[in-house]
Amino acid sequence: MLDEFMQSPAFVMACQQYDRVADYLSIPQGERVRTKFPRRAFIVSIPVRMDDGQTAMFAGYRVQHHLSVGPTKGGLRYHPAVTLGEVAALAMWMSWKCALSGLPYGGAKGGVTCDPRKMSIPELERMTRRFTQEMIPFIGPHIDVMAPDLGTNEQTMAWMMDTYSMHVGNPVPQIVTGKPVALGGSAGRREATGRGVAYLVNRTLENLNMASEGSRIAIQGFGNVGSVAAQQLHRFGAKVIAVSDYTGGIYNPQGLDVNALIDYVEKHKHLGELRGMGDRITNEQLLELECDVLIPAALERQITAQNVGKLHCRILAEAANGPTTVEADDILRQRADVFVIPDVLCNAGGVIVSYFEWVQDLQSFFWSEAEVNDKLYRQLETAYHQVTHFAKKHNLYMRDAALALGINKIAEAKKLRGLFP
Ligand code: NAD
Repeated sequence: MLDEFMQSPAFVMACQQYDRVADYLSIPQGERVRTKFPRRAFIVSIPVRMDDGQTAMFAGYRVQHHLSVGPTKGGLRYHPAVTLGEVAALAMWMSWKCALSGLPYGGAKGGVTCDPRKMSIPELERMTRRFTQEMIPFIGPHIDVMAPDLGTNEQTMAWMMDTYSMHVGNPVPQIVTGKPVALGGSAGRREATGRGVAYLVNRTLENLNMASEGSRIAIQGFGNVGSVAAQQLHRFGAKVIAVSDYTGGIYNPQGLDVNALIDYVEKHKHLGELRGMGDRITNEQLLELECDVLIPAALERQITAQNVGKLHCRILAEAANGPTTVEADDILRQRADVFVIPDVLCNAGGVIVSYFEWVQDLQSFFWSEAEVNDKLYRQLETAYHQVTHFAKKHNLYMRDAALALGINKIAEAKKLRGLFP
């Protein structure tokens, strides 16, 4: 099991990214093991009574990467390909992202290996409640706080909050973020990741002296992050020329009607049957389209050594976590024609507003959406400025600059706290 975990492609990828930056920062070998490997990893069995009366068993995971500066924070993913290794890699990326954004959290991630699209709402509710119950000894508002990710949403968080609160005996909204506003969720949290992606894309267009108005955007993944990014960029005057989901994509060089697409997906759940708005394309074709901005907003490891040479974008905005393999990245860092906004920066808007939600819940004092967005943009702007400035000053690739800033903060915190006992 441990071998499988250590050899998982996503975990190997996160470790390679870490090693490159640790070499650059000259982190001593003895300190590397402490800052690199997860502090805790849990595997739980989740028996669920299915609608047909049978009992199905699901595997659930949670990895808490480090607890040096505050509780751990990170999403919960429902997907058939979830493994402990993938979750561990996502937890590491969360740590670096939180440190880079100046949040008092270590990274965490969780997942259940299941296909939520094939499960009924009651089955998903029973699975979520049982997973939460199994996690109760290991989570808490000051220990580990979950949020939605791929395949989970506000409703998932509401069930988690209810299960935890029933156990404790009083409402504990601060146990999760990304929950409905009616339960103590933050205004603007659902849109925060996509909104942040759109903000950073705009800043980069501006830096590269390119106009937002009319810029051509292609987006892989049309879920929470992809659809909100599309909507925001569309509002700024950009032309969303292609979007896709797990069923494939749609392409129209004149620009797609983003709001009509969102309505369509809300009704039909996916883009598979959509006709008449543009040409059908595959996910592979979408990545290779001629465009100004390419936004992978679905799964990890989509841009590989095989397709990286075929990218025709000026900006690669990594809304998904880990969308570019290390091999592809080695090629990309040589390509001066593609500017990369690395994942730990690009999608940080989500965890930033999750942090705002946690703070609001702890204080039972809630902010308006305008206040949330204003604080979000200011925090993102600081992180963006720090990364671009550091990259320029040290002649670094954007990913290396972002990771160096994040990893260095964690190493520094661990050094200051010292080794217990
Ligand atoms: P989601 O479940 O709402 O949407 C995922 C989208 O990807 C769906 O449209 C789905 O059909 C599509 N998809 C799935 N498999 C695909 C495939 N093989 N090819 C193309 N498309 C595929 O999830 P989300 O919350 O939008 O998350 C998307 C990505 O953003 C993930 O990598 C997630 O880790 C990352 N992220 C999410 C948040 C957040 O706040 N939700 C924050 C930071 C990062």
